[in-house]
Amino acid sequence: MRAVDHEASVYLHQVPVPGEDRYLSLALVNTRFVVSHGQVDLLEDAEAAQLWLVRHELLPDRVALGGRHAGRLRTLREALRTLFAAYGAGQRPPADALDTLNAALAAAPPTPRLAWAADGPRRADTPDTANPAAAALSLLAEDATDLLTGADAGQLAECAAQGCARWFLRSHGARRWCTTKCGNRVRAARAYAARRVN
Ligand SMILES: [Zn+2]
Repeated sequence: MRAVDHEASVYLHQVPVPGEDRYLSLALVNTRFVVSHGQVDLLEDAEAAQLWLVRHELLPDRVALGGRHAGRLRTLREALRTLFAAYGAGQRPPADALDTLNAALAAAPPTPRLAWAADGPRRADTPDTANPAAAALSLLAEDATDLLTGADAGQLAECAAQGCARWFLRSHGARRWCTTKCGNRVRAARAYAARRVN
């Protein structure tokens, strides 16, 4: 049962970071991260990528994901990481990262729709069910667009712990680490370095 052990160890290390609950694009970027024994990729193959999309309610679980779409999902993830980094640095991103996001937006956009229930009107866009994998990528790209152009963009930050590579939304201005686990790791490393010097 090696596969089960492997999956359990991966998810043990996957502590949700602030903002992922509100922005699936942030959760997507954080599917690649570093732990003490090396790099983890929650989208390492088509099966893993399908599982991630189903868990985030972006794909019906009966829909299989081909290797091509899994590759596109990983490409979108790297483009989002580049866009977040450019935003954080106050720079324009490379054109190919922007092109990747715009291609995902245009591939299978949801149809805008207004629903009106007893409690009033609300937006209820309909996803493109004819093309579920591309529709999932479109939703993720739209989520990233909302994040980068909305009021929360100013809170976007990369974890300052060396090698962590996760992105999160700052709950307060001084927050530098995605989780207390990362903060504790940095403090422990500093204390160790100080002891060696003294
Ligand atoms: Zn971190």
